[in-house]
Amino acid sequence: MSLPRVSRILRGPPSTIPSYCFRGRAEQLSANWKGTNASGDSTKNFIGGQFVESKADNFIDVVDPSTQTLLTRVPETTSSEFESAVDAASQAYKSWSRTSVLTRQRFVLELQHQIRSNADALASSIVLEQGKTFADAHGDVLRGLQVVETACGITSTLLGDKIEVSKDMDTETRRLPLGVCASIAPFNFPAMIPLWTIPMAAVTGNTLIVKPSERDPGAAMIIAELCERAGLPPGVLNVVHGTVPTVNAICDHPGIKAISFVGGDRAGKHIYERGTKNGKRVQANMGAKNHAVVMPDANKNTALNSILGAAFGAAGQRCMAISVVVLVGNARSWLSELVDRAKKLKVNGGFEEGADLGPLITPTAKQRVSSLIASAEEEGGRIILDGRDIEVPGYPDGNFIGKFPSAERCAKEEIFGPVLTVLPADTLDDALSIVNANKYGNGTAIFTQSGATARKFEREVEVGQIGINVPIPVPLPMFAWSGNKASVLGDIAFYGKSGINFYTQNKTITSLWRAEDAIGNKASVDMPTMR
Ligand code: NAD
Repeated sequence: MSLPRVSRILRGPPSTIPSYCFRGRAEQLSANWKGTNASGDSTKNFIGGQFVESKADNFIDVVDPSTQTLLTRVPETTSSEFESAVDAASQAYKSWSRTSVLTRQRFVLELQHQIRSNADALASSIVLEQGKTFADAHGDVLRGLQVVETACGITSTLLGDKIEVSKDMDTETRRLPLGVCASIAPFNFPAMIPLWTIPMAAVTGNTLIVKPSERDPGAAMIIAELCERAGLPPGVLNVVHGTVPTVNAICDHPGIKAISFVGGDRAGKHIYERGTKNGKRVQANMGAKNHAVVMPDANKNTALNSILGAAFGAAGQRCMAISVVVLVGNARSWLSELVDRAKKLKVNGGFEEGADLGPLITPTAKQRVSSLIASAEEEGGRIILDGRDIEVPGYPDGNFIGKFPSAERCAKEEIFGPVLTVLPADTLDDALSIVNANKYGNGTAIFTQSGATARKFEREVEVGQIGINVPIPVPLPMFAWSGNKASVLGDIAFYGKSGINFYTQNKTITSLWRAEDAIGNKASVDMPTMR
């Protein structure tokens, strides 16, 4: 079946100039913020409370993915700069770890205010460097902000345990920070993912070195400045840039106690193995392939709209994107309507009014996604809605791709683009077999009006985050991330109670203050039995 290309739908009145004022936003960001730049100059490191120009020999270009305009150059941090970041974090740890929990709580309270007040700047940086739409960029900031807000409950969540284990003998548990920690981030959520770790590490008394994605470091730099404004002492948060050498330095440095990683499988496995071999605590969130199962009794409107939003939002560059829809029984007849609705989504530059999805991060990503789409036909699948040759007026050089419900590689591999694979199933059991055969376990969703069907699905599906009539079931941060199978390495998940566990180590103290000792009793030499 051949359907019109998305580009045809987009062809409206001719316009060659993007309607947003690119230069204005870029200049504003460069002028207003100390660490980030969107006018072609380099991005700074943030070490010991100072935004410092790197003396690196190698810089990586960051370009606007909708125009290929050079925004900034990111340094491959030198070994001595990296060493100063670890030194600054180690020095700061001595006092920050001894700062009262109330002081640390005040920092996160103020940080949430700073982020709220500066959300537009953060979102602008994200649109420029990452390409998502302005509204979606605000969502990126908001989901990070929610971690900051949850961290404000530290005075309750850090409470330890205490019980009198024997007469006059108490055992108490205290949760103490680990030391200098590190956080390595991916490109797809430039604000949210640094904010998964910064508030949690700091509020528990740790110091942190963040390495943002070299493809979009701006939001992390703005966040660093907001932390400074929120009263975080120098050295508690440090930001260093770079690629594999900087990551390896993090994995190898004996002064770093724990690493949080979010990104792809290759880097995740490498960092987990190298970090744990060096005795560090490592949590690694990696790739995904998320299925939505649509039952014939589902509310069609809710199901189709939810699935399209979750498949194509952020151009499919979300680890919780729905990338496979399984239409069960008569729901198979809804395919043409799904396609019709997909055609109505607008592909455009992220600042453009009404844009639903922006470009992919790089021309290489576009090439990879295009070749995966081509593999669908080579493997006997059908490309129903093809947007590979999309033309977006005003953005001739952008990494745009349309959207295509479509087959083997497409059904199994993480595509990380606006591609929705459609698979048929006769029964719920068949659908469950399809979902469970996938190696990943990040997210899944079912659309049904039957509680019993939903119950069977959530019991039997082997995926860690399940939506029932909810397309992207990312838990709010009072709950911990719970992706499973090949989507994670490490046992202690991000944020929630688990986040507190990740950033703390327990000490149990058992003390005996025998009342009769007060009057000078005879010492006991027997092994304490705690009766
Ligand atoms: P990526 O793995 O390419 O990069 C992530 C980080 O690792 C970056 O900071 C990068 O500099 C570093 N890195 C990259 N390759 C490396 C290597 N060979 N050795 C050491 N370090 C390396 O990931 P990305 O393309 O930026 O992000 C997309 C991926 O992230 C997708 O697979 C997506 O599913 C995943 N992701 C997962 C979650 C989750 O919570 N499960 C959330 C967001 C993104």
